[in-house]
Amino acid sequence: MSDNPYAIYWITDHLATGPAPMSYDHLDALKAAGIDAIMNLCAEYCDLHDIQDGQGFEVYYLPIEDEEAPQLQALEEALDWLDEAIYLGKRVYVHCRYGIGRTGTVISAYLLRRGLGSKLVKQKIKKMRSRPANFYQWWLVRKIGKKEGRLTIREPALEWKSLVDLAPFFADHEALLSRIDTFLDHRGVAKRCGIEHAACCGSYVEVSLIEAAYLTHHLNRKLHREERQAAIARCGEIYRRGRELRQSSASQAEGFARLYAAQPLLCPLSQGDRCLVAPSRPLTCRFSDLADGEEERSLVTACRQRSAELSAELFLALAGEFPSREPITFPLVDVISGKFVQTFFYLLSRPADEP
Ligand code: SF4
Repeated sequence: MSDNPYAIYWITDHLATGPAPMSYDHLDALKAAGIDAIMNLCAEYCDLHDIQDGQGFEVYYLPIEDEEAPQLQALEEALDWLDEAIYLGKRVYVHCRYGIGRTGTVISAYLLRRGLGSKLVKQKIKKMRSRPANFYQWWLVRKIGKKEGRLTIREPALEWKSLVDLAPFFADHEALLSRIDTFLDHRGVAKRCGIEHAACCGSYVEVSLIEAAYLTHHLNRKLHREERQAAIARCGEIYRRGRELRQSSASQAEGFARLYAAQPLLCPLSQGDRCLVAPSRPLTCRFSDLADGEEERSLVTACRQRSAELSAELFLALAGEFPSREPITFPLVDVISGKFVQTFFYLLSRPADEP
């Protein structure tokens, strides 16, 4: 066993186990290790999940008494949540009091459900500290193994991580964002859209491919499930109003622009005048705080150009070919709802000479 009281045992890149975090320092250590979400299995600490939630983690609370196994249906619901969180790129920490029996039961059930098969799961957990610790827990795992043993079918998605390493693209994009923020600092602009005010949040916003990828990454990792679902529901409302207003001849972008011009519509990410993803908000939102001057206009042009270059480079990395049209942009609402993924795949499959 490790001497580190905050030791984390990584099962995969996105799934970790360990003991219950019993101090703010321990929670800070989990944050520092990149943990975004926690599955808390401790029935004995009935306030701990609220503390974890208050510290900014997305929390799933499945209270299980010590030495017990969960009910099958409760376990399946918890595994649905775990599946979704990992699929969205979150790093999840599963714990009971010591990170052994109850944790091992849930982890084994999860691995079985991901199609690992009983033999492989046993091999995997042999090396782990977390494993079912008694008859009831093993019995439940065996039952799950008989029932599952298959891979979950997924919706089409840009599984960026497995396709290409996005970190260098994101680093270049972040350099662009900080260039604008530094300019605003030098100009003495203290109040920023999405943070101190929401002046830009009622306008139609389009984003480039690199911004769409970057925002998706942060939406998936940083928003809690309920926040994400509520934002997607608000996108649905915008689509509904857009359908009512759009004329058949208008393109989708024209339709959205007309919709925003016709009535005040708040961005689905704006909540109480604050942006849910303020540090990752798009270029356009940042530009809205710039004054109308020569230097400002050059900055906007240079940043848009760099963003288009980065998008073309990302397209090449993902598709293995140059984009057939530039710039590649998407309505922000499509990025929030996830709909832009379909558009992206359409662009990939479209013949080069098609307009
Ligand atoms: S992304 Fe954020 S800052 Fe930009 S319009 Fe939406 S809520 Fe406002």
